[in-house]
Amino acid sequence: MSGSEDLDLLPTPLMSERHSGVPSRLTKEAAAARSRLYANRTLPSSKPRLRPVRLPPDTTEEVFAAAVKSLRSSIGAENVVVNDQPLEDGWYLEHPNTHDAFHVVDQEELVCSAVVFPGSTAEVQTVVRWANEYLIPIYPISIGRNVGYGGAAPRMPGGVVVDLGKRMNSIVDLDGEGATCVVEPGVTYFSLYEEIQNRGLPLWIDCPDLGGGSVLGNAVDRGVGYTPAGDHWANHCGLEIVLPTGELLRTGMGALPGKDGADSPTWQSFQNAFGPKIDGIFSQSNLGIVTKMGFWLLHEMNHQSYCVTFAKDEDFAQIVDTIRPLAQQGVLGNIPQLRHIIQELNVTGKSKSTFHGGDQPMTREEIRQAASELPLGDCAWVFYGTQYGDAASIDRQLDVIKAAFSEIDGTKFWLPKDVPHDHYLHSRVQVCGGVPILRELDWLNWLPNAAHLFFSPIAPTRGRDAQVIHDIVAKGHHKHGFDLFPTLCVAGREIHYIANIIFDRADAEQKKRAVRLTRELIRDCAREGYGEYRTHLLFQDQVARTYGYNDQALMKVNEAIKDTLDPNGILAPGRCGIWPKRFRGKGWALGVDDVDMETIAAKL
Ligand code: ADP
Repeated sequence: MSGSEDLDLLPTPLMSERHSGVPSRLTKEAAAARSRLYANRTLPSSKPRLRPVRLPPDTTEEVFAAAVKSLRSSIGAENVVVNDQPLEDGWYLEHPNTHDAFHVVDQEELVCSAVVFPGSTAEVQTVVRWANEYLIPIYPISIGRNVGYGGAAPRMPGGVVVDLGKRMNSIVDLDGEGATCVVEPGVTYFSLYEEIQNRGLPLWIDCPDLGGGSVLGNAVDRGVGYTPAGDHWANHCGLEIVLPTGELLRTGMGALPGKDGADSPTWQSFQNAFGPKIDGIFSQSNLGIVTKMGFWLLHEMNHQSYCVTFAKDEDFAQIVDTIRPLAQQGVLGNIPQLRHIIQELNVTGKSKSTFHGGDQPMTREEIRQAASELPLGDCAWVFYGTQYGDAASIDRQLDVIKAAFSEIDGTKFWLPKDVPHDHYLHSRVQVCGGVPILRELDWLNWLPNAAHLFFSPIAPTRGRDAQVIHDIVAKGHHKHGFDLFPTLCVAGREIHYIANIIFDRADAEQKKRAVRLTRELIRDCAREGYGEYRTHLLFQDQVARTYGYNDQALMKVNEAIKDTLDPNGILAPGRCGIWPKRFRGKGWALGVDDVDMETIAAKL
């Protein structure tokens, strides 16, 4: 079936029909986003598998069959699904749990052997004990929409995906007085937001650009959003975790049992509790499956989003140096974004071919010409910020911000009323006010069959450092023939520099170039002392080893903890570059030279 024939498919599932569905308020947007994406697709929605089921490593067909049979008898046959059907990439709201929908290597490489759906913490313990019995690697996902970082795929081909979200998706607690919540893995930003609205609570959540992810999964992977509570991990309070041996643990005040079997009343009140604080080892790690997580919510606030445009590319460093004191002094209300003007073109949802013929990156002159037709006009950088507080206070904050930025020649200041109703600024008003939406899907129309990788180094908030990274990234994109889409999330002391490498999934050569580009960027930034905060599964070994101070001292500690907590090496082996003893040194790790990854199976 060709992509465009899929347009007749059933409507996107609603939240009321599926835990990962879309809220009814966004049905129209979802339908429109899907038709645009599918109209731009030349790949079939699926094709026959070229290879049989990818078995877990070191597992025979007989052992796998026996393992599947055994798990089916403990958690129900319908909750253990062998991955033997054609793979479908789908799209954001109908995403697969079997593989990486944004495959940068062959689609059949980053795949699981089976998906299992536990329905309770006790069943997660059952799955973990089963994995230990059969020595089968398991890989937990909450929703599996970790787009750009590996999606739902296990790092080890043939691992078993533990899809927690399907049956574990309750909002366990929503406390209007304390402004806190406790969620299970399958609670999405959409579902938490809708529940708060239904209950009429004056609370906000913080959400990333797209609202379909798991609140818990995103925080575990240290994702960010755009309100004053944008650091999701920093705003969590208390975890419930199943350890790789199957034991159950609660962290923070949750370790203290409440009266008569209840939870401690302070579980979501205080993060530090008593003794060593071990929560950190459960984020971006493979040391436990998080089954519940507490969060601090915000009180709803008056807010004002705006943008500032800057005329010249060369003013980049000065813009960063202007943002720094504003952020450190607390004048800026949230973590603002600084985006290059080319991003204005791709958030229109139009394809690159609208602006440019051929496969080469757009030239600066072409970007200039196309931008001059758009609402913000011909400029170089766009700053998107939001201020919070009462109207008079916001006015005073904006005066300070305008005064600081107007030191840079050619600066213009824009409010939502100054731009058309479909301009990106209006979507920032929503996201920065804690309303989860779908607008950010629009740039996926840039190329046919578009997928993307994020390259995400951290810079100090200093013009000269940001410039070094930007120059490396720009040079690499030019060398490998990609348009450069930089978004900088700028805090007072650090910047998440996020380059969005968009590629065509149907073009094997382009995928290889995207891999080469990413490998080189990781290497070249590390040489200058800069490292990434997060990366796609296939680059995690390389990034982890750039954090190699004193002969890989950090990795050695991570490995020692891994071997202690997961002696059989069953939980997400290789995630974040940490391999258990069983697989360590056996050729699984991928390094800077692994650029033509025909296969990612062990090389030894
Ligand atoms: P989202 O859908 O919000 O983007 P995912 O479910 O894809 O989030 O999770 C992001 C990553 O975090 C996954 O790849 C997985 O490695 C890890 N992760 C997700 N949920 C859990 C969990 N409950 N326990 C441990 N790790 C998890």
